[in-house]
Amino acid sequence: MSWTIKDIPVKELSTGEVLSIKTFTLSNGEGPHIHIQASVHGAEIQGNAVILKLMEALKGQSIQGSITLIPMANPYATLNKHGTYTYGRYNPVTGDNWNRNYVDIVKASGFDLDEFCNSHKDSTWEDIKSSYKTKLSQAFSKYTNTLKDQNRIQDNNKINIILQELALGADGILDLHTGPTATRYLYSAEYEEAISKHMLFRHVLVIPNDFAGAMDEASFMPWIHLKDAFAKLGRDINLDVESFTLEFGSEETFRMDEGSKDVESILNYLKFKNVLAGEPEAANPHYSKLKDYNTMYAPRGGLVDYHVAPGDHFKEGDKLATFYQMKDIDPENPIASCSHTLVANADGIVINRCPSSNVHQGMELFQIMTNTYR
Ligand SMILES: [Zn+2]
Repeated sequence: MSWTIKDIPVKELSTGEVLSIKTFTLSNGEGPHIHIQASVHGAEIQGNAVILKLMEALKGQSIQGSITLIPMANPYATLNKHGTYTYGRYNPVTGDNWNRNYVDIVKASGFDLDEFCNSHKDSTWEDIKSSYKTKLSQAFSKYTNTLKDQNRIQDNNKINIILQELALGADGILDLHTGPTATRYLYSAEYEEAISKHMLFRHVLVIPNDFAGAMDEASFMPWIHLKDAFAKLGRDINLDVESFTLEFGSEETFRMDEGSKDVESILNYLKFKNVLAGEPEAANPHYSKLKDYNTMYAPRGGLVDYHVAPGDHFKEGDKLATFYQMKDIDPENPIASCSHTLVANADGIVINRCPSSNVHQGMELFQIMTNTYR
Protein backbone atom coordinates (compact mmCIF):
# COMPACT_ATOMS: atom_id res chain seq x y z
CA MET A 1 0.00 0.00 0.00
CA SER A 2 1.27 3.45 -0.82
CA TRP A 3 -0.03 6.97 -0.44
CA THR A 4 -1.34 9.00 -3.37
CA ILE A 5 -0.67 12.70 -2.81
CA LYS A 6 -2.46 15.45 -4.69
CA ASP A 7 -2.09 19.20 -4.64
CA ILE A 8 -5.36 21.00 -5.36
CA PRO A 9 -5.37 24.78 -5.99
CA VAL A 10 -8.16 26.45 -4.01
CA LYS A 11 -7.62 30.22 -4.19
CA GLU A 12 -5.71 32.73 -6.24
CA LEU A 13 -4.74 35.77 -4.20
CA SER A 14 -4.67 39.34 -5.53
CA THR A 15 -0.88 39.14 -5.61
CA GLY A 16 -0.86 36.05 -7.82
CA GLU A 17 0.06 33.44 -5.25
CA VAL A 18 -2.17 30.39 -5.40
CA LEU A 19 -3.16 28.66 -2.18
CA SER A 20 -3.65 24.92 -2.37
CA ILE A 21 -4.65 21.99 -0.22
CA LYS A 22 -2.93 18.62 -0.15
CA THR A 23 -4.84 15.36 -0.07
CA PHE A 24 -3.23 12.11 1.08
CA THR A 25 -5.03 8.94 0.05
CA LEU A 26 -4.27 5.39 1.12
CA SER A 27 -6.25 2.63 -0.58
CA ASN A 28 -6.41 -1.11 -0.74
CA GLY A 29 -9.08 -2.96 -2.68
CA GLU A 30 -12.83 -2.79 -2.24
CA GLY A 31 -14.25 -1.34 0.94
CA PRO A 32 -15.54 1.83 2.54
CA HIS A 33 -14.02 5.20 1.74
CA ILE A 34 -13.30 7.50 4.70
CA HIS A 35 -12.79 11.25 4.25
CA ILE A 36 -11.06 13.16 7.07
CA GLN A 37 -10.36 16.92 6.96
CA ALA A 38 -8.96 19.38 9.49
CA SER A 39 -8.81 23.16 10.01
CA VAL A 40 -11.74 24.42 7.92
CA HIS A 41 -11.83 26.91 10.79
CA GLY A 42 -8.29 28.21 10.50
CA ALA A 43 -7.46 28.48 14.22
CA GLU A 44 -8.64 24.91 14.91
CA ILE A 45 -5.37 23.12 14.40
CA GLN A 46 -5.40 20.12 16.75
CA GLY A 47 -6.88 18.00 13.92
CA ASN A 48 -3.52 18.27 12.17
CA ALA A 49 -1.82 16.62 15.14
CA VAL A 50 -4.50 13.92 14.95
CA ILE A 51 -3.89 13.40 11.21
CA LEU A 52 -0.13 13.09 11.83
CA LYS A 53 -0.75 10.54 14.59
CA LEU A 54 -3.14 8.68 12.31
CA MET A 55 -0.56 8.48 9.51
CA GLU A 56 1.96 7.13 12.04
CA ALA A 57 -0.56 4.56 13.28
CA LEU A 58 -1.30 3.43 9.73
CA LYS A 59 2.37 2.74 8.96
CA GLY A 60 2.70 -0.96 8.25
CA GLN A 61 -1.02 -1.56 8.83
CA SER A 62 -3.22 -3.25 6.26
CA ILE A 63 -6.44 -1.41 5.50
CA GLN A 64 -9.50 -2.51 3.54
CA GLY A 65 -10.97 0.29 1.43
CA SER A 66 -9.55 3.78 1.32
CA ILE A 67 -8.82 6.82 3.48
CA THR A 68 -8.32 10.41 2.30
CA LEU A 69 -6.72 12.85 4.73
CA ILE A 70 -6.81 16.63 4.21
CA PRO A 71 -4.80 18.56 6.79
CA MET A 72 -5.03 22.38 6.57
CA ALA A 73 -8.25 22.23 4.57
CA ASN A 74 -8.73 26.02 4.48
CA PRO A 75 -5.29 27.67 4.11
CA TYR A 76 -6.74 31.17 3.66
CA ALA A 77 -8.44 30.93 7.07
CA THR A 78 -5.30 29.63 8.78
CA LEU A 79 -3.22 32.47 7.27
CA ASN A 80 -5.53 35.17 8.62
CA LYS A 81 -3.69 36.47 11.69
CA HIS A 82 -4.59 39.48 13.83
CA GLY A 83 -1.56 39.96 16.04
CA THR A 84 -0.81 36.58 17.56
CA TYR A 85 -4.47 35.54 17.25
CA THR A 86 -5.81 33.55 14.28
CA TYR A 87 -9.12 34.94 12.99
CA GLY A 88 -10.07 31.55 11.65
CA ARG A 89 -13.78 30.95 12.14
CA TYR A 90 -15.15 33.63 9.81
CA ASN A 91 -14.23 34.80 6.35
CA PRO A 92 -12.51 38.16 6.97
CA VAL A 93 -13.94 39.57 3.72
CA THR A 94 -17.59 38.52 3.98
CA GLY A 95 -18.02 37.69 7.67
CA ASP A 96 -19.42 34.25 6.84
CA ASN A 97 -18.73 31.24 9.05
CA TRP A 98 -16.53 28.91 6.97
CA ASN A 99 -18.60 25.92 8.11
CA ARG A 100 -22.02 27.19 6.95
CA ASN A 101 -21.67 27.36 3.18
CA TYR A 102 -21.94 23.74 2.11
CA VAL A 103 -24.82 22.59 -0.06
CA ASP A 104 -27.78 20.27 0.39
CA ILE A 105 -27.03 18.92 -3.08
CA VAL A 106 -30.22 16.88 -3.51
CA LYS A 107 -32.31 20.01 -3.03
CA ALA A 108 -29.94 22.46 -4.74
CA SER A 109 -29.65 20.33 -7.87
CA GLY A 110 -33.31 19.30 -8.10
CA PHE A 111 -32.28 15.61 -7.93
CA ASP A 112 -35.24 13.41 -8.93
CA LEU A 113 -35.27 11.04 -5.95
CA ASP A 114 -38.67 9.53 -6.73
CA GLU A 115 -37.46 8.47 -10.16
CA PHE A 116 -34.20 7.09 -8.70
CA CYS A 117 -35.94 5.09 -5.96
CA ASN A 118 -38.58 3.71 -8.32
CA SER A 119 -35.92 2.46 -10.71
CA HIS A 120 -33.98 0.86 -7.80
CA LYS A 121 -36.95 -0.51 -5.86
CA ASP A 122 -35.71 -4.09 -5.90
CA SER A 123 -31.95 -3.51 -6.05
CA THR A 124 -29.58 -4.58 -3.28
CA TRP A 125 -28.44 -1.84 -0.88
CA GLU A 126 -24.87 -2.14 -2.22
CA ASP A 127 -26.09 -1.53 -5.79
CA ILE A 128 -28.28 1.37 -4.66
CA LYS A 129 -25.40 2.97 -2.79
CA SER A 130 -22.99 2.66 -5.68
CA SER A 131 -25.47 3.98 -8.23
CA TYR A 132 -26.55 6.83 -5.91
CA LYS A 133 -22.94 7.96 -5.41
CA THR A 134 -22.46 8.12 -9.19
CA LYS A 135 -25.67 10.12 -9.67
CA LEU A 136 -24.78 12.47 -6.80
CA SER A 137 -21.38 13.08 -8.31
CA GLN A 138 -22.97 13.94 -11.68
CA ALA A 139 -25.49 16.23 -9.99
CA PHE A 140 -22.73 17.96 -8.04
CA SER A 141 -20.58 18.54 -11.15
CA LYS A 142 -23.56 19.96 -13.01
CA TYR A 143 -24.44 22.22 -10.08
CA THR A 144 -20.90 23.60 -9.70
CA ASN A 145 -20.42 24.00 -13.47
CA THR A 146 -23.55 26.15 -13.55
CA LEU A 147 -22.17 28.28 -10.71
CA LYS A 148 -18.87 28.65 -12.57
CA ASP A 149 -20.56 29.54 -15.86
CA GLN A 150 -22.56 32.25 -14.12
CA ASN A 151 -19.58 33.56 -12.08
CA ARG A 152 -21.38 32.67 -8.87
CA ILE A 153 -18.50 30.93 -7.05
CA GLN A 154 -17.89 33.20 -4.09
CA ASP A 155 -15.02 33.78 -1.74
CA ASN A 156 -17.02 32.11 1.00
CA ASN A 157 -18.24 28.99 -0.80
CA LYS A 158 -15.44 27.92 -3.13
CA ILE A 159 -13.48 26.01 -0.49
CA ASN A 160 -16.72 24.39 0.73
CA ILE A 161 -17.60 23.21 -2.77
CA ILE A 162 -14.13 21.74 -3.31
CA LEU A 163 -14.17 19.88 0.02
CA GLN A 164 -17.74 18.66 -0.35
CA GLU A 165 -17.03 17.29 -3.81
CA LEU A 166 -13.95 15.45 -2.47
CA ALA A 167 -16.08 13.90 0.27
CA LEU A 168 -19.06 13.02 -1.93
CA GLY A 169 -18.34 9.32 -2.43
CA ALA A 170 -17.29 8.68 1.16
CA ASP A 171 -18.94 6.22 3.56
CA GLY A 172 -17.53 8.03 6.57
CA ILE A 173 -16.85 11.77 6.77
CA LEU A 174 -14.96 13.16 9.76
CA ASP A 175 -14.61 16.94 10.01
CA LEU A 176 -12.00 17.81 12.65
CA HIS A 177 -12.61 21.04 14.57
CA THR A 178 -12.10 22.54 18.03
CA GLY A 179 -14.11 24.91 20.18
CA PRO A 180 -12.86 28.34 21.36
CA THR A 181 -11.80 27.10 24.83
CA ALA A 182 -13.39 23.70 24.97
CA THR A 183 -13.43 20.14 26.16
CA ARG A 184 -13.54 17.33 23.61
CA TYR A 185 -17.00 16.68 22.19
CA LEU A 186 -18.70 15.18 19.16
CA TYR A 187 -21.59 16.33 16.95
CA SER A 188 -23.70 13.32 15.97
CA ALA A 189 -26.93 13.29 13.96
CA GLU A 190 -29.93 11.53 15.49
CA TYR A 191 -29.73 8.65 13.00
CA GLU A 192 -26.15 7.84 14.05
CA GLU A 193 -26.57 8.36 17.80
CA ALA A 194 -26.12 4.66 18.61
CA ILE A 195 -23.03 4.44 16.39
CA SER A 196 -21.50 7.55 17.94
CA LYS A 197 -20.46 5.57 21.05
CA HIS A 198 -17.72 4.05 18.86
CA MET A 199 -16.20 7.51 18.43
CA LEU A 200 -15.05 7.28 22.09
CA PHE A 201 -15.99 10.86 23.02
CA ARG A 202 -17.20 11.62 26.56
CA HIS A 203 -19.63 14.30 25.37
CA VAL A 204 -21.96 13.91 22.39
CA LEU A 205 -24.25 16.64 21.04
CA VAL A 206 -27.13 15.11 19.12
CA ILE A 207 -28.28 17.27 16.19
CA PRO A 208 -31.42 16.77 14.08
CA ASN A 209 -31.20 14.89 10.74
CA ASP A 210 -31.45 18.30 9.10
CA PHE A 211 -29.48 20.82 7.07
CA ALA A 212 -28.04 24.07 8.43
CA GLY A 213 -25.04 24.50 6.13
CA ALA A 214 -22.28 22.54 7.91
CA MET A 215 -20.05 19.85 6.38
CA ASP A 216 -21.39 17.03 8.54
CA GLU A 217 -24.97 17.89 7.55
CA ALA A 218 -24.15 18.38 3.86
CA SER A 219 -22.53 14.93 3.89
CA PHE A 220 -25.39 13.04 5.54
CA MET A 221 -28.36 14.89 3.99
CA PRO A 222 -28.27 13.04 0.62
CA TRP A 223 -28.58 9.79 2.59
CA ILE A 224 -31.37 11.11 4.81
CA HIS A 225 -33.28 12.21 1.68
CA LEU A 226 -32.72 8.76 0.14
CA LYS A 227 -33.89 6.96 3.29
CA ASP A 228 -37.03 9.15 3.41
CA ALA A 229 -37.80 8.54 -0.28
CA PHE A 230 -37.50 4.76 0.13
CA ALA A 231 -39.64 4.90 3.28
CA LYS A 232 -42.44 6.36 1.13
CA LEU A 233 -42.17 3.21 -1.01
CA GLY A 234 -42.37 1.04 2.10
CA ARG A 235 -38.67 0.06 2.19
CA ASP A 236 -36.65 0.69 5.36
CA ILE A 237 -33.01 1.56 4.74
CA ASN A 238 -30.50 1.05 7.52
CA LEU A 239 -27.95 3.74 6.67
CA ASP A 240 -24.27 2.78 6.83
CA VAL A 241 -22.87 6.18 5.87
CA GLU A 242 -21.86 8.37 8.80
CA SER A 243 -20.75 11.95 9.10
CA PHE A 244 -19.46 13.52 12.32
CA THR A 245 -17.88 16.76 13.49
CA LEU A 246 -15.16 15.99 16.04
CA GLU A 247 -14.21 18.80 18.40
CA PHE A 248 -10.69 18.25 19.75
CA GLY A 249 -10.36 20.77 22.56
CA SER A 250 -9.43 24.45 22.14
CA GLU A 251 -8.46 26.57 19.15
CA GLU A 252 -4.91 27.89 18.70
CA THR A 253 -3.63 24.70 20.36
CA PHE A 254 -1.49 22.01 18.74
CA ARG A 255 -0.54 19.20 21.14
CA MET A 256 1.06 16.06 19.78
CA ASP A 257 0.89 14.36 23.20
CA GLU A 258 -2.90 14.86 23.34
CA GLY A 259 -3.08 13.79 19.68
CA SER A 260 -2.01 10.29 20.79
CA LYS A 261 -5.26 9.98 22.75
CA ASP A 262 -7.40 11.88 20.20
CA VAL A 263 -6.44 9.56 17.36
CA GLU A 264 -7.94 6.59 19.25
CA SER A 265 -11.38 7.92 18.25
CA ILE A 266 -10.56 7.66 14.59
CA LEU A 267 -8.75 4.32 14.80
CA ASN A 268 -11.75 2.87 16.64
CA TYR A 269 -14.14 4.23 13.99
CA LEU A 270 -11.97 2.66 11.26
CA LYS A 271 -12.38 -0.67 13.09
CA PHE A 272 -16.13 -0.12 13.27
CA LYS A 273 -16.11 0.42 9.48
CA ASN A 274 -13.92 -2.71 8.96
CA VAL A 275 -11.29 -0.51 7.28
CA LEU A 276 -8.94 -1.67 10.05
CA ALA A 277 -9.06 -5.15 11.57
CA GLY A 278 -10.16 -5.58 15.19
CA GLU A 279 -13.18 -5.22 17.45
CA PRO A 280 -14.28 -1.62 18.00
CA GLU A 281 -14.71 -0.44 21.58
CA ALA A 282 -17.76 1.47 22.79
CA ALA A 283 -17.76 4.44 25.18
CA ASN A 284 -20.55 5.50 27.52
CA PRO A 285 -20.84 9.21 26.69
CA HIS A 286 -23.01 11.95 28.14
CA TYR A 287 -25.52 12.85 25.43
CA SER A 288 -27.40 16.11 25.05
CA LYS A 289 -29.86 17.17 22.35
CA LEU A 290 -29.04 20.33 20.42
CA LYS A 291 -32.14 22.03 21.88
CA ASP A 292 -30.62 21.45 25.35
CA TYR A 293 -27.22 22.85 24.35
CA ASN A 294 -27.44 26.34 25.77
CA THR A 295 -25.33 29.41 25.26
CA MET A 296 -25.08 31.53 28.39
CA TYR A 297 -24.51 35.19 27.50
CA ALA A 298 -22.71 37.62 29.81
CA PRO A 299 -25.38 39.36 31.93
CA ARG A 300 -23.01 42.30 32.45
CA GLY A 301 -19.65 43.59 31.24
CA GLY A 302 -16.41 43.33 33.16
CA LEU A 303 -13.30 41.31 33.82
CA VAL A 304 -14.24 37.70 34.39
CA ASP A 305 -12.75 35.15 36.77
CA TYR A 306 -14.07 31.77 35.57
CA HIS A 307 -14.76 29.18 38.31
CA VAL A 308 -15.59 26.27 36.01
CA ALA A 309 -13.59 24.84 33.12
CA PRO A 310 -14.64 22.99 29.98
CA GLY A 311 -15.54 19.41 30.90
CA ASP A 312 -16.67 20.36 34.44
CA HIS A 313 -20.05 19.15 35.69
CA PHE A 314 -21.91 21.67 37.84
CA LYS A 315 -25.11 21.77 39.91
CA GLU A 316 -27.82 24.39 40.19
CA GLY A 317 -26.56 27.09 42.58
CA ASP A 318 -22.85 26.52 41.85
CA LYS A 319 -20.72 29.60 41.18
CA LEU A 320 -19.77 29.74 37.49
CA ALA A 321 -17.89 33.03 37.22
CA THR A 322 -17.30 36.33 38.99
CA PHE A 323 -17.48 39.66 37.13
CA TYR A 324 -15.33 42.56 38.31
CA GLN A 325 -16.32 46.06 37.15
CA MET A 326 -13.51 48.56 37.68
CA LYS A 327 -15.87 51.58 37.43
CA ASP A 328 -17.78 50.34 40.51
CA ILE A 329 -14.76 50.19 42.86
CA ASP A 330 -15.23 51.71 46.30
CA PRO A 331 -11.63 52.05 47.57
CA GLU A 332 -12.82 51.44 51.15
CA ASN A 333 -14.17 48.04 50.16
CA PRO A 334 -12.64 47.40 46.74
CA ILE A 335 -13.33 43.75 45.89
CA ALA A 336 -16.82 43.39 47.36
CA SER A 337 -17.94 46.71 45.86
CA CYS A 338 -17.12 45.83 42.27
CA SER A 339 -17.76 42.07 42.02
CA HIS A 340 -20.85 40.10 41.02
CA THR A 341 -21.02 36.32 41.01
CA LEU A 342 -22.89 34.40 38.31
CA VAL A 343 -24.65 31.32 39.68
CA ALA A 344 -25.97 28.31 37.70
CA ASN A 345 -29.76 28.13 37.43
CA ALA A 346 -29.72 24.44 36.40
CA ASP A 347 -27.37 21.43 36.38
CA GLY A 348 -25.08 21.09 33.38
CA ILE A 349 -21.72 20.30 31.80
CA VAL A 350 -19.43 23.07 30.53
CA ILE A 351 -18.43 22.38 26.92
CA ASN A 352 -17.06 25.76 25.77
CA ARG A 353 -16.19 28.98 27.48
CA CYS A 354 -15.20 32.39 26.18
CA PRO A 355 -11.39 32.39 25.70
CA SER A 356 -11.14 35.97 27.02
CA SER A 357 -11.63 37.39 30.52
CA ASN A 358 -12.32 40.82 28.98
CA VAL A 359 -16.04 40.49 28.38
CA HIS A 360 -18.76 42.88 27.16
CA GLN A 361 -22.37 42.42 28.25
CA GLY A 362 -24.11 39.98 25.88
CA MET A 363 -21.02 38.10 24.72
CA GLU A 364 -21.04 34.30 24.68
CA LEU A 365 -19.74 33.25 28.09
CA PHE A 366 -20.36 29.49 28.25
CA GLN A 367 -21.88 26.80 26.09
CA ILE A 368 -23.35 24.13 28.30
CA MET A 369 -25.05 20.77 27.95
CA THR A 370 -28.22 20.45 30.02
CA ASN A 371 -30.70 17.57 30.37
CA THR A 372 -27.88 15.14 29.64
CA TYR A 373 -28.55 11.43 29.43
CA ARG A 374 -26.52 8.24 28.94
ZN1 LIG B 1 -14.83 24.74 13.95
